[in-house]
Amino acid sequence: MGIPRERVLEWLAAYDPDEITIGVVASHSSLQILHGARQEGFKTLGIAVGDNRRRLYSAFPGAQPDEWLMLEDYRELLTQAEWLRQRNVIIIPHGSLVEYLGAENFRNLELPSFGNRDILKWESNRESQRQWLELGGCTMPAVVNDPHDIDGPVIVKYAGAKGGRGYFIARDYRDFRRNVNLEEEFTIQEYVIGCRYYMHFFFDPIASDGYQVRGIGNNTGKKLGRLELLSMDRRDESNVDEFYKLGSLRDLREMNLEPSFVVTGNQPVVIRESLLPKAFELAEGTVAASYELEDEAFGMIGPFCLEAIVTDQLEFKVFEISARIVAGSNPFVGGSPYSDLNEYRMSTGRRIARSIRNSLNKGCLDELIS
Ligand code: AMP
Repeated sequence: MGIPRERVLEWLAAYDPDEITIGVVASHSSLQILHGARQEGFKTLGIAVGDNRRRLYSAFPGAQPDEWLMLEDYRELLTQAEWLRQRNVIIIPHGSLVEYLGAENFRNLELPSFGNRDILKWESNRESQRQWLELGGCTMPAVVNDPHDIDGPVIVKYAGAKGGRGYFIARDYRDFRRNVNLEEEFTIQEYVIGCRYYMHFFFDPIASDGYQVRGIGNNTGKKLGRLELLSMDRRDESNVDEFYKLGSLRDLREMNLEPSFVVTGNQPVVIRESLLPKAFELAEGTVAASYELEDEAFGMIGPFCLEAIVTDQLEFKVFEISARIVAGSNPFVGGSPYSDLNEYRMSTGRRIARSIRNSLNKGCLDELIS
């Protein structure tokens, strides 16, 4: 379903541009979102369930919201939308908001939301992600449709698994049978050997300077906006990242141990400079393709992350896209080796607030909101 565009425009028309409040569920990447919103001079509102969360924020005064909305359950947010609109709130979506509310509830949340909510539906399903990324020119790991065909390392991923929970590696059908949970929907992907890079890009459709992206297909040649690389991380995944210390995969299996991929943290990285042109080419294609996916001329807006493995042939295999801020950008509250080359101390959270500020100055806030 989703919210009709006219409704969003009506809400925004009633907002006081001098009183815009940045609202966020206090989790995931909200410390940098709140901190960045403050740096750009916005009022801030935190949304939380349980006093522990509010107390935690007192440990980080630079990110403490001006006001809290305390709920019994995150789904209550759906009934608080009018109260939030009266406070001129723009909500910033992140992985936890979508998880807590459910993708469909989030699409129907009656509150102006930063970015394009419709793009999240392309991200939410592995098949549609593949369609999007391949249209954008990304090479993805091969998919094995029939588990009997496994003849080399593959990774088995469950639909909607959060933080890699339950994923496992299989070398053949026997491995697969031993570990698989057939109750869950799964995908079998070629296990790509190489180094992982989680590249945090930002697409600003209202900026007319910098690295400009042009449309493809129906939008051929149309100037779509400015692409930036803000930062890059590598996830810490427990326990696969430390597994090698215990011996070979065979030794580990003898001990009845299997690697797991549960995200526990993030580390800053940079990629070798000669790979940057390719990284930009992939991100540019992804943005251009996003404007082809739907009939409307509204595609990727704001932060997105391409998750890739670079092989020893220096090829990128993109295994996932997140069409919103990722928690991997959290190490960069004070800037990154990439964003510092545009402006010092520009986190992704602050970049979101900056784009809202710029749109208010230009009178085109609606171009960033859905
Ligand atoms: P995902 O849920 O797709 O982000 O995957 C979670 C983790 O699994 C990644 O961060 C990687 O460590 C690993 N992974 C995912 N896909 C692949 C792949 N095709 N080859 C190797 N490792 C992968």
